Formats: sequence, structure tokens, C-alpha cells
Amino acid sequence: MAANELLKRLVTIFSDDDLRHPQLRGIALAQWLLESGRATSDLSTRHYNFGGLKWRKELAGFATRIQYEAHDGVDFYCKFATIENFITGYWVFLNRSPYSGWEAHVSTPEEFIKFIGPVYAGDESYADKVIALLPEANQLLEDAVRVRAEGHQGHEDVHDANGKDLGVIVIDPGHGGTQNLPGSDANHAISVSGVKEKKLALDFSLILRDQIYARAKTGERVKVVMTRETDKNLPGRERARFAFDHKAKLFLCLHFNGNQNRSARGTETYYRAKENGNINLEEDMTFAQSVQTALFKQLKALDNNAKDRGIKPDNEGNPNLPGFGVLNDHNLGNDERRDPCRAAYIEAEFITNPSVEKLLISGPDSINNRTLAMRAVADAVLQQMRQR
Ligand SMILES: [Zn+2]
Repeated sequence: MAANELLKRLVTIFSDDDLRHPQLRGIALAQWLLESGRATSDLSTRHYNFGGLKWRKELAGFATRIQYEAHDGVDFYCKFATIENFITGYWVFLNRSPYSGWEAHVSTPEEFIKFIGPVYAGDESYADKVIALLPEANQLLEDAVRVRAEGHQGHEDVHDANGKDLGVIVIDPGHGGTQNLPGSDANHAISVSGVKEKKLALDFSLILRDQIYARAKTGERVKVVMTRETDKNLPGRERARFAFDHKAKLFLCLHFNGNQNRSARGTETYYRAKENGNINLEEDMTFAQSVQTALFKQLKALDNNAKDRGIKPDNEGNPNLPGFGVLNDHNLGNDERRDPCRAAYIEAEFITNPSVEKLLISGPDSINNRTLAMRAVADAVLQQMRQR
């Protein structure tokens, strides 16, 4: 059975997650396969709750509480802002008193699930159902690790093997990991509910990748390369280098803004300033404007208070500011190319704004909303790729 895109995203991220008990990786995933119907349940697609986790007060700070009707009636469940938050939240859930002592039962996957299973599901046969899915879970994880080791950062989605080749786009989710590096801090903004920008940047970027593949037409071939698919950081220069290494047509960085003034909001997109040596200024501005317009229009349709902050040079008009290394034409390899890559840097919204928090981060429709937003960007990107 082919894994759906959401399941693939869960597996990719979890396969690279630092676990205190790595031997439990497979069994935890097996449990999530069961609970989420292989990432097809409403709780998983709408709320990133792959574990069927009911709301418990200890999850405050890791999840938000949503009312949800499951097979056993209406109850409060956890909603997670990102897949990464779900993975963290799952272990927080187990660290509650009903499971106390579970860490003394972790020598094998079977021992672990037989200990927690009866509490988790109130069902003696539960552990066996999960154990039956362990080989599938292990295989998914192995595949994800192998793909990463082989350096396959993107795959070509062939709608039609003889189709028109639209080329390559590199998507760069901002920040990541725990170390500040030249041209890329581990994190910058933090949302009202405490979700880190790096996690949102990754989630939105992975949705954007999947939307680009989904929105390409029959007869078109397109390849999306990610600078990162898990929680790691890369220096700005290395991120840009992906564009050159993959002969990318487009390079798109995705970030979120933050401000001490909680009422600040709006969407803006940066391009390399002329004073910073942009060698394809007009093309970059056209690309930046196309993603900016598409994203703003969709956000405005979802929330009338959305604000268009427009496109901006990366020195904000100050000729003494060096701008963003990730947009530097030399780092992108554009000085060595006859067909320079077009680059833009989206600051999608201010995650420090409570309305944005509800709209895109932790409100009941936030995952659907962000998918619509990334679909609009995907359409703009594909339109750009069709032109040259
Ligand atoms: Zn940022």
C-alpha cells in the first residue's frame, strides 16, 4: 500500500527525530499507523493528531484543545500545530501518571506496547494489533533513512514521462536545528502559543512541495528539491548552493515574521536588492510579486484583515545593508550561469499576531487554511516555471 503524502511527511520527520529510546521508533509509528488509519483519519489530516490523543491538561503548551466527534462520541482532543509538535506531544502524553513506570518497560518494542497498550486503548488485544503493524512501520522508517542517506532531497514527479519538463524548484524552509550558523539562526520568531518559526517553515514548505506536485498538469514534469526535510540547520550559503547544484529555475525561501507589537501583521516577500549585486533584478521582482500576490489573495479570502505588505529589496532600501546571504547571486551560482535562477524570500505572516495564530497555527481550520495558502503559492510557482 502506497503511503499518502501526509504519512510520508510524518515518517520522514520521525525517522530523523532524536529519541531517548530509539528502539521504540518502529512501535510508536506502528501505533500511529493503527490510530490514524495510516494518516487518513480526520484527526490526523485536520489536526496532526496521529495518536488519537484525547486532551489532557499536561498537553497545554504542546497542543491546543479541540472538540471532536470520534466513533465513541464527542470529546476533547489534542490539535498539534505541526507534525514535529505531535511527535513531542506523544511522549508528553505518556509521561502522565496513568503510564507511570513505562520507562522501565522499554527493552523491546513488544514489552513497551504491552505495558502502555491496555491503558492507552482499554483493550487487551490492542498490543497485538500494533505489533502486527511493526514490520510495515520499520520498513517505512528504513526507506526514509535510506533515501536521506542517498541524498535524494527531491524526487521527480512524472505525470507523463514524455511530458514537458518544467525544471527544478528548490524550497528552503527557514532556520532549523539548535545551532545558529552563518546566515541562518536556529530559530527566529515564536508564535503566540509558543510554536517555533522553524517548525512552521518546515511544515508549510513540505505542504508546498506536495501541492506543487499535485497542481502540475498532466503532461508536465516538475522536480522539487528541499534544502531540509527535518529539524536541522544549514548555513545560508549552503542553502543557496542547492539552487546551483540542482540547476534550479526557482529558489524560494519560506519564513515567518515576529514583532513585539502583537497587532503587526501582513505578508511580504523579499528579493535581492540592486545595490547588493542582483544580476537578474527584473526577473526576481516578477517572481517575488507573483508569489506575494497569490499568497496574499488567498489569505485575504480566508481572513479579511490580511494585509499586503508588498515586495521589498533585501536591504529595505538602505544601500549600506548587506541583505540576505541566502539571496546572494554568487551563493546561488548565478554569476556562473547563463540562465540565472530566480530567487524570492517569503515572510508569510506575523506569527506573533493572535489572529494569525488562529488562522494558520492552532485554530480548528489552521491546517486546511495553510494548505489553501500553499496551494495558491504552488499555482504561482508553476506559472513561473511554465514561462521560462
Ligand atoms: Zn525567519
